[in-house]
Amino acid sequence: MTKWPVGVFASVDAGLGVHLEVVRELGVPSIQLHAPHRETRTPEAARAFLTKCADAAITVTAVFGGFEGESYADIATTSRTVGLVPEATRAARVQEMKEISDFTRLLGCDTVALHIGFVPEDHASANYRDLLKTTQDLLDHVARNGQNLHLETGQESADHLLHFISDVGRSNLFINFDPANMILYGTGEPIAALKKVGKFVRSVHCKDAKWAPEGVRGTAWGQEVALGDGDVGMENYLRTLLEIGYTGPLTIEREIPQDPVRQKADIGHAVRLLESLRKKILG
Ligand code: MG
Repeated sequence: MTKWPVGVFASVDAGLGVHLEVVRELGVPSIQLHAPHRETRTPEAARAFLTKCADAAITVTAVFGGFEGESYADIATTSRTVGLVPEATRAARVQEMKEISDFTRLLGCDTVALHIGFVPEDHASANYRDLLKTTQDLLDHVARNGQNLHLETGQESADHLLHFISDVGRSNLFINFDPANMILYGTGEPIAALKKVGKFVRSVHCKDAKWAPEGVRGTAWGQEVALGDGDVGMENYLRTLLEIGYTGPLTIEREIPQDPVRQKADIGHAVRLLESLRKKILG
């Protein structure tokens, strides 16, 4: 693959991504896929999906896990409901994530990813210890499928995420860096965070956002906006990716599935912006 192929976050029947039709119309060569619902994760569905991808010359670069019961309504609800952190659903969700890893293997893809949730701050707590064990168990399953696991950024500061990765201590755990999430969740200035976690970054999202007002940052959402209209600074972001040695896909996310017309238009604009910046930076 060439350096920095453009990608887009796509969905079959779950998640906030665009459908394959839209990816094809936009002429984008790679996707990250939100894992479909359990009943669609069959060998037949995988084969049919791969045929469609091959026909449109689209490569699947990662599959993102997501679970029933997750809600991003506000930061407090996200903390309570998302990922492997909530204890009541941890065992069932890690089992489902293993199934998603198996489905990902059927797609011939070597990367699974997820929002793990808000990792507990208290590293001595039983909850944190159990989360470590659960993550190690998942990583061992993922490794048997010849895959890596990428953690989406945003719910932890860069330092907290590095600490967690070090504690997990597995060689197939990496990061999917999302600069807008650092702003949306108020967990840190994205460029500084990217420099800190750079050596673990194996995939990225190209998404933009504006900070929440100073007093409510970290408790109220910032605002996700079209690429280039927010506070990330896309040229600086790409130059920093080059600096850390990242050459993988630039996967666009625009999380407004309730407005598919605008979603497609914004993604089209983002493709052009990334292509022009790539030309300016890489020559
Ligand atoms: Mg993201």
